[in-house]
Amino acid sequence: MDKMGNCEKTDHDFPNGLMRGGKLVFMKCGHPLPCPWHTVVIDTAGPRVHIPETAGLTQPQRRKIRELAVQISDALEDE
Ligand SMILES: [Zn+2]
Repeated sequence: MDKMGNCEKTDHDFPNGLMRGGKLVFMKCGHPLPCPWHTVVIDTAGPRVHIPETAGLTQPQRRKIRELAVQISDALEDE
């Protein structure tokens, strides 16, 4: 994220950039976090995990995040 707390991933509408004046430019997403396109949300009441399709994560990465979510909710229950 940037100093304003906004998402710095590539804009979800133009993930491959777009042509501006003959140049390929990449725009930042700029959505306030949590960004609905790029932010993984772990609900501590869960484990419920929301991983946007547009987050650009591989299946192994998604599986790892789900495993972490289970660990987090287990840790919270132990307190
Ligand atoms: Zn974003």
